[in-house]
Amino acid sequence: MSTQKTSVLLIYTGGTIGMIENAQTGALENFNFEQLQKHIPEIQKFNFPIDTYQFDPPMDSSDIEPDIWRKLVQIIHDNYEHYTGFVILHGTDTMAYTASALSFMLEGLAKPVILTGSQLPIGVLRTDGKENLMTSIEIATAQNKEGEPLVPEVCIFFESRLMRGNRTTKMNAENFNAFRSFNYPVLAQAGIHIKYYNTQIHKHKEKQNLKPHYLLDTNVVVLKLFPGIQENVVASILGIEGLKAVVLETYGSGNAPRKEWFIRRLCQASAKGIVIVNITQCKAGMVEMERYETGYQLLQAGVVSGYDSTTESAVTKLMFLLGHGYTPDEVRDRMNRSMAGEITL
Ligand code: ASP
Repeated sequence: MSTQKTSVLLIYTGGTIGMIENAQTGALENFNFEQLQKHIPEIQKFNFPIDTYQFDPPMDSSDIEPDIWRKLVQIIHDNYEHYTGFVILHGTDTMAYTASALSFMLEGLAKPVILTGSQLPIGVLRTDGKENLMTSIEIATAQNKEGEPLVPEVCIFFESRLMRGNRTTKMNAENFNAFRSFNYPVLAQAGIHIKYYNTQIHKHKEKQNLKPHYLLDTNVVVLKLFPGIQENVVASILGIEGLKAVVLETYGSGNAPRKEWFIRRLCQASAKGIVIVNITQCKAGMVEMERYETGYQLLQAGVVSGYDSTTESAVTKLMFLLGHGYTPDEVRDRMNRSMAGEITL
């Protein structure tokens, strides 16, 4: 454990960044962290200690579960005082979910937690992993003249962009610039220099202590609308036993079919205490239910606006709020307030 002034804890959960091609099958398989270091000897050029915590075995991020978010919160909490910042290497597929969940679970965070990964394994010649890793380490340790961290937030760094974690979505399965923050400006841009956009970065006004949270309730579902969606499908989903919340992915600025059965089903679910949050299927822009008749009816059915939330953020915020035992009305109210900069009000 590091006691020097600047130091980073690098947490390796798995993902493409640490994979290697199986010579027989051609499939990508995990390898361990020592091999990762072998492929990036440059890491030793940082003139401060980089300690590592390796998940064993490393995980493909498709297997990430809320228990892993709890484990990450625990690791960060246990090591909080010893490090300047934290870098989490994570598969790209569910990275935006993990980043969103951590942003809610790490209340009072005053140090950088930077998630990154890569599209090509680090051992491959054209890998994007090296650049992503090196720059993330640099960002995790960046401080101002007063010795305060420049980015005390949960972020994703990917292909030159530093983004607020709970604003980010994976939107490309092929290109190196796989992530976007459509509804919030980037926090920093890495070129020859790393340019920090301080006005976009959240900083607490007063000194805060880290307050880790572990309670999550997974009785949440995502319901994506499409033309032709049938009543029995909607009814089955809303009728799931134990269901507590629905992220309803609607059209445009929060619009949905005006069919009588659809509105009635939503009304009944809301009355039963199921929280229904309206977010748009569009990548950019926000829900404005008052704008069209089709959205207005949802409001009357007890549906609450998710504003410009990503699906990843809405799902994990609901898990967090439900896990903390709030009543349906309290959850609805808190979905309309920003907890960690996840929505624009
Ligand atoms: N399947 C991998 C994962 O999410 C993909 C990646 O890392 O990019 O773990």
